Amino acid sequence: MPDLLSVDKAMDHIMAGIHQLGAEQITLHVAFNRVLAQAVISAENVPPFATSAMDGFGVIAADLVGASPQTPLEVAVTMDVPAGVAPEGTLKAGQAARIMTGAPIPDGVDAVIPIEDTDGDWTQPAPTVKLFNAVPAGANIRPIGENITAGQTLLQAGTMLKPQDVGVIASVGQATVDVVRQPHVVIFSTGDELLLPDEPLTPGRIRDVNIYTLQGLAEAHGARVTTLPIVRDTPDAVRAAFRQAITHQPDVIISSGGVSVGAADFVRDILAELGQVNFWRINLRPGKPLAYGYIEGVPFFGLPGNPVSVMVTFDVFLRPVLRKMAGLPEDGLFKQAVLQKNLNSDGRRTYVRVKLEWREGQLTAVPTGTQSSGALMSMVLADGLLVLPEGTKMAKAGETYPVRLLRQPISI
Ligand code: AMP
Ligand code: MG
Repeated sequence: MPDLLSVDKAMDHIMAGIHQLGAEQITLHVAFNRVLAQAVISAENVPPFATSAMDGFGVIAADLVGASPQTPLEVAVTMDVPAGVAPEGTLKAGQAARIMTGAPIPDGVDAVIPIEDTDGDWTQPAPTVKLFNAVPAGANIRPIGENITAGQTLLQAGTMLKPQDVGVIASVGQATVDVVRQPHVVIFSTGDELLLPDEPLTPGRIRDVNIYTLQGLAEAHGARVTTLPIVRDTPDAVRAAFRQAITHQPDVIISSGGVSVGAADFVRDILAELGQVNFWRINLRPGKPLAYGYIEGVPFFGLPGNPVSVMVTFDVFLRPVLRKMAGLPEDGLFKQAVLQKNLNSDGRRTYVRVKLEWREGQLTAVPTGTQSSGALMSMVLADGLLVLPEGTKMAKAGETYPVRLLRQPISI
């Protein structure tokens, strides 16, 4: 099929114009799922001082040698150290300091004996305490910097921040963080047949699916999304939609529908009027037709209308685009799997929706029912997209193919 553009050539062409966006500073409260523009290096030790890991008594370990339930050591309680207060004075032989979890270790203390191993009672503080066993030096003390040392690199640039990442940034005294600006994506669906999910179904109409799948896909790869209302198949409506998209100052515009051969030709005329757009026929199944170009300097992707084609063309073309803009590393996670069924192909690179299963030490792939480009359930049931390479006419059961994972269960 010499007139079809290969996926790799299309990709090279597209990626040549795509760059990582600039950085911005945000507060930690809105940092979840954002992408670090630079590494986070700690300016502090965590904990910032040696701290008690238990409620108990700070002691001098050498004092306690030989202590047991039968022969407890009785010492004077000369200090009281709650959390949040710097202790004063130095503990001497024969003394103990009442100390709480998280409180700083006073000078002279080299171990903490838990309250359970003493006759101490927090509700009735006594001037002395009996200690029922020995503890080694260092017991129940978290040394300064045990967790993090000043100067340590905590997180690398390109990390998408998880809750624990945000917490660790707070723990070293940073209230703001430098992140890559999120790509702002404007999305709209085109089609006279489209209805919202809550509109009554009338003859000849179907529900708009693509606006939802595209929003989720874009957000999953670091983007912020604005959706426009459904665009009807008239020149004025399409022109107005592109104009409206541009007013949002997007980094990318995505539409679905109306790019098939023979489909409303005015879409082409309007794109030619507003920007530089190529209509490509890609060597890809599903998802052959693709409009790609720039409208007023903004990259534009006109995806096909069929819901599975939308998801596959997003995965192939837009996932790398958005991840590069967002500063995220490539995430194309592939596994090899053994096909369980003969499949005919037409020589285009084909993404088959498959269910994956381990059988006798082999990862096996079974197609998920009807593979029509409109059958979104084939994606709902899929664990991955098995890739039949260009030129394949017949894929046989027992052959091994790469599978792009759509989810990552632990067992896979
Ligand atoms: P088109 O490329 O506009 O001819 O659309 C191809 C097929 O996808 C047609 O069956 C459309 O009804 C369907 N389609 C287009 N847009 C959507 C959408 N947003 N949601 C669900 N199906 C759609
Ligand atoms: Mg249409």
